[in-house]
Order: sequence, then structure tokens, then C-alpha cells
Amino acid sequence: MNWIVVIWSMLAAACLTLAAIHLPIWLHDRAARPSLFFSLMCVGTAGMVLCEAMLMHARTTTELASILRWGHLPIWLVIVSMVGFTHTHLGTGRAWLAWTVVGLRTLSLVPNFTTGVNVNFLEVSQLDFVPFLGERVPIPTAVPNPWMIVPHLGLWLCILFVADAMMTAWRQGARDKALRIGGSTVVCLLASAAQALLIVWLGVPMPVTTSLFLLPIVGVMAYELSRDLLHARQLAAELGESEQRMTLAARAANLGVWSRDLAHEEIWANTKWRELLGFSQAELITAEKVLQKVHPDDRDRVRRLVTATTSSPGVHQGEFRVQLPDGGIRWIASQGQAEFNTHGRAIRARGASIDCTARKLSEQETLLLRQEIAHVGRVSVVGELAMALAHEINQPLGAILRNAEAAALFLQQESPDLEEIRAIIDDIRKDDQRAGAVIDRMRALLKRQEVQMRPLHVDELLGDVAALLRPEAAARRVKLDVKIIEDVPRIAGDRIHLQQVLLNLVSNGMDSIEESSRQGRSIVVTARSEDPASVKIAVTDSGRGIAATDAARLFEPFFTTKPKGMGMGLSISRTIIEAHGGKLWAENHPGGGACFLFTVPTAEELEQ
Ligand code: ADP
Repeated sequence: MNWIVVIWSMLAAACLTLAAIHLPIWLHDRAARPSLFFSLMCVGTAGMVLCEAMLMHARTTTELASILRWGHLPIWLVIVSMVGFTHTHLGTGRAWLAWTVVGLRTLSLVPNFTTGVNVNFLEVSQLDFVPFLGERVPIPTAVPNPWMIVPHLGLWLCILFVADAMMTAWRQGARDKALRIGGSTVVCLLASAAQALLIVWLGVPMPVTTSLFLLPIVGVMAYELSRDLLHARQLAAELGESEQRMTLAARAANLGVWSRDLAHEEIWANTKWRELLGFSQAELITAEKVLQKVHPDDRDRVRRLVTATTSSPGVHQGEFRVQLPDGGIRWIASQGQAEFNTHGRAIRARGASIDCTARKLSEQETLLLRQEIAHVGRVSVVGELAMALAHEINQPLGAILRNAEAAALFLQQESPDLEEIRAIIDDIRKDDQRAGAVIDRMRALLKRQEVQMRPLHVDELLGDVAALLRPEAAARRVKLDVKIIEDVPRIAGDRIHLQQVLLNLVSNGMDSIEESSRQGRSIVVTARSEDPASVKIAVTDSGRGIAATDAARLFEPFFTTKPKGMGMGLSISRTIIEAHGGKLWAENHPGGGACFLFTVPTAEELEQ
């Protein structure tokens, strides 16, 4: 029996079988490029195996030279696919090195097929026959071809490429994989190179059996790919399990789940999501159809949310209303995130939505309640100021009366001085406007109204508050100063609510001065730009300051140290400031007295 034929043809058959198993995998899934390179590697190895078997049976120098020439084709395929497999399977390796290897091996084919002699030998002068596996195999005596340097260089660079790819993969953490693929390839290629050296340089009489050194590499590659297949199966099982868990969790949490394929403009959604948005189970859902279900007032906002989700990474969330067929409203809280391809284009967006109507209604109720409490607070502050304000109104009214009487006297004269009467009427008009302004400010404070965020000029806001408080301050012999420190930008806020906060703080300051035995009786209100996004307003008094024991409780509802206090002023004020997106806090002033400070966002923040 010819063992060489038996063994070498079995090896070739095994390689071709592996190629036949793995090529269809790549044909089904073009992303499985390692499978493609592996099947090419198997075909190349099978080719080499057959060439080697034929070499061992060559009986003439011409026959041997011709087999050597054609043997370079499978070697080329093996080297190229080995580089490709390493690069795609490990995901590492320098591209320029890979291309150099491919280039050199391709270049070596040119003299091999164009010069009339193969790239190994210029001339084969004689064949000696040595025993091998019971056969007599030929060992050539030949003149080496200098071109042989090119394929040799290609082989050494291939070893370098694989070693380098292995080290990178190792550093990236894929240690086992790197060691299996890189290690086996490098060791086997080096062993094959060592065999060539033994034969060429030391003249060891044996045939070249490169393909035997390639077989372990093929084996390791096959093992790697089957591990991948096994891993994919496990992943599929885990995915199925996690999908089950997610479905259960989504059902338990009443979550609607959706996923939008941006290439095909189709939206997949679970039953709950369809229910929430009012789609039937079989209905085809598109983004435009979803927008039609959204309340017209929220549509632009939802459109912006969708654009933001598909144009920038991260989770985007929002709340919107959906119009129900019976005319009712449902509030939906939704969040989504897009998946982007390597070119930065969104390919799919996924998200979850939940019915938040109950929370929204309770938020609205809380808001109404808060407005109600704030209103009560204002009524009580204005009530406290009423005496002083009545005096403020009385003054212009008294002046109007006196001026009217004077005008009547002038008119009794035979030739009344019309210029004088005109001046008197002018005074009457001004006094009337003054009294009217006081009443307007009080009426505004007493009105019950929703919070309306508007751009406000800080000087106007502080001016209004000062006008309301000045009479009271004068009656209590307190000096009230308003200072605006350079170029304070407009703020975003509700005029009446912010006035209420300032009225509370200044009134508290006056109370504190009353309780203190200190000399200076003054309150200073300052406004300054805190940072580009906010303005800080401080109310500093020269009163008794904040006792260390009270500091932690100042802003608690119903905390008061005053016999007739309600303890609501500071708590309402803090709620108002927080609703504006600002902060309110208190400090003791280093020179004595207390300082209450708050921040409010600038109008630019509101306009954005
Ligand atoms: P009320 O004025 O009805 O007591 P507030 O909530 O406005 O309610 O104030 C709570 C408490 O905080 C006051 O009773 C007082 O003890 C303390 N407080 C408020 N403002 C000042 C201040 N400017 N200086 C010292 N203590 C103050």
C-alpha cells in the first residue's frame, strides 16, 4: 500500500470538507469573513497537500520543476487567507503589513510564471531518491533562484504580521484567542521554516512537508470557528431568555416598548405601546402616524424630540399628550435612544413609553395648591402692608382735594389765571396717577393667577417692590436701599411671584430690625450677575441675625419665632424660587444682621 497517497489524500479530503462546511456560512452571512478566509485557507492547504504528494512521486527533473511552479498558487492562497483570517478574527493587525505580505507573495508569482523557470530553482540538475514512509521520494540537486528572496521575505513578514496582531489582541484583553490563533500560526510557520533550513542548508535528506505544518493551524482555526458557533448558540439562547424577562418586566411595569427601523421607516411596538398610542394590533405604524396621534399643541415638541434622538447619541426623553378617540387626553412619558453605524448615521431607534396621566394630574393639582398657598401668602403680606399703603394713597388723595379746592378758588376770581389752573390740574393728574399706581400694584398682588414666566427687567422688579414697601419702611424708620450692580441681564420669572418673595424677605428684615437693639436700621437689596446663566439677588438687613438654633429650620413650613407669625413666608418663597429653577438660602452677615439670597435664571435661558 502507498502510504503517501493514502495519508496525503486523506488530509486533502479533510481540508476540502472543512472548506465545504464553512463556505456556505459566509455565503449566508457576508459579515462572517473569518469563515470565508478559513475555507480559502483549507482549499489552499488541500492544494499544497496534493502538490506535495505529486512532488514525492516526481520521477524527472522537469516534472519536479513544473510541480514546484504550480505549487506556488496554493501557497499564495494559504498565505493570503491566513493574513485575512488573523485580521478579521482577531480584529487586529497592521493593514500596511498585511498588504505588503500579499504584495510580495503576488510579486513572487510573476517570475515564477513568466521566466520559464520556477521561483525556487534556476535549474534542477539531478534527483536523488531517499526512502520516506516506505516509498522512494526525490531530493533535487539544483541551483537556487535569486528571486526566492521575494516569497521568503513575504513569509517572514507574514509571521511578523501574525505576531504583531496577536500582541495587540493580547493587550486588548482577548488573551486566549490571541494565543491560540497567533501562537499556533507563528510556531507552525517557524517550524516549517526550520524544516526548509535543515533541508537546504544542512542537506538533511527528506522531502519538504510544509502542508503538515499547516494542518495544526487549520485545526486551531476550525476549533476557533466552532467555538464562535457555539458561543453564538449560547448567545441566542441567552437573548431568548432575556427577551422573555424583558417582556415580563415590561408587562409588569405597564411599559410600552417600540423600535424604529430608520432605513425602512417602520415601527415595531408591543401590544401595550399600541394601546397607549391608540393603534390597533395589526395596524402598520409609521412616525407620521404617531405624530397624528399626538396632541396638536405637543406635536412640534415631539418632532424635535424625534430629531434629537436620531441625530445625537444618548437617551432622550420627553412627555406629551395623546388625543384619545373619546376626546380625552392621555399623558405619555417616553424615552428613546438611537443606534448609529460606523458613519455616524442612525440606523435604529428604540425606546419605552409609559402612561403618566395620573402623575401629571397630581402634579397639576399640586401646582394649583402651591399657587393657592402662594396667593394666601401674598394676601397676608399685602394685609400687613395695608396700613402703610393706605397712608400712601391718602397723601395723593389729600393733595388732589387741596388742589381741587385751590382751583375752585382761582375760578371764582374775575379773570382767573388759566396758567395757574392748568398747573393745578397737572398736579391733580400726577397725584391721581400715583395713587392709581399704588392700587394697581396691590391689586396685582391680590389677584390669583398662574405662574407666567416672562423676561423681566430686574430694576423694574426691584423698583415695584421698593414702591410698595417704602411707606412701611418709612413708618418703621428703616432705610431701604436698592442697588443694581452693573449690567444685570433680564431674568426669566413671574413678576408677581418674585415680588412676593422680595416682599417677604424685606418684611422679615424689618421685623428683625424691630427685634434688634442695634443702631443702624437699614435694608439693602442688591442684584448682580452671578454667572452667564443667572442673577443673584440679596436682601441684607441690620437686624438681629439668624440664631444658630433656628438656621436649620428657617425654611420649614410653620416655623416662626414671632408671636403673630405664620411661618409660611420663607417656605413659600423657597418653593417659588425653586419653581423658577433657582435657589434661596440664608446667611448671617459678617457685620451683623441676616442676608437672604436667591438666584433666578436669565431670560436667555428661557428663550433657548
Ligand atoms: P414668619 O415671618 O411668619 O415667622 P417666615 O417663614 O417668613 O415666617 O420666617 C420664619 C422665621 O425665620 C421667622 O420667624 C424668623 O425667626 C426667621 N427669619 C426670617 N427672616 C429673618 C431675618 N431677616 N432675620 C432673622 N430671622 C429671620
